[in-house]
Amino acid sequence: MMKNQEVHINALLDYERRRVERENQKPGHLTGIDCPICRNRGIVWVLDEKHITPVMKRCECMDRRAAASRIKKSGLTDALQGLTFQTYTACEKWQLDIKKAAIEYTRAPEGWFFIGGQVGCGKTHICTAILNELLKNKACVYMKWRDDVRDIKAKANDEAGSRLLERFKTASVLYIDDLFKGGITEADLNIAFEIINARYNSRSLLTIISTEKYINELIDLDEGIGSRIAQRSHGHQLEIGRDDRKNVRLRI
Ligand SMILES: [Zn+2]
Repeated sequence: MMKNQEVHINALLDYERRRVERENQKPGHLTGIDCPICRNRGIVWVLDEKHITPVMKRCECMDRRAAASRIKKSGLTDALQGLTFQTYTACEKWQLDIKKAAIEYTRAPEGWFFIGGQVGCGKTHICTAILNELLKNKACVYMKWRDDVRDIKAKANDEAGSRLLERFKTASVLYIDDLFKGGITEADLNIAFEIINARYNSRSLLTIISTEKYINELIDLDEGIGSRIAQRSHGHQLEIGRDDRKNVRLRI
């Protein structure tokens, strides 16, 4: 290489290096996480020395920002975010069975996950743990049946009601916590059917359901709802015995 050609290239490299440094100093507008690497721009400039040109790279904080945004959109409260597999106490066999089935589902999520039966045996904890795990790379939505169905009914005649219903019908992953808790009216059954049927018809959507009821009780209550849940959750159905020993009937 000619000497003056080399000098020219070095000058160009120096110029581009300074330009990259300058660009990387500029603050961005992203909020939520304060990132010292990209100064909240979400991107960083690096110099491609071979081609003497700045190249834009996605900053590593973007994955964390996306995860934080998914958690925020999921509707999970801080308390629910603490319900993970790590914090689930499993000493007895029935608890270990539940945990094992939930972890297996999380590893290869397909179809629906159903857990029914005994009050206060950690159904919400285990289902929320599944949701927290899936949130790492999927958009998930939490539905507290009793509160959210009340909300949908209260807003039935306006845009907000149908938006809420739509959110539960179309979420990639939906967890319905304590389905049919707090009495069941005709309107409740209609709303449940609308959500369950929409999700039943879109095969790729994952649905997690906890309820005090068993599958056959759901079928007795409303065959359309119960049979759809039974069919889609086949392979991931857990029924916890309503007694002190809390036996688990795994239908896998
Ligand atoms: Zn960053």
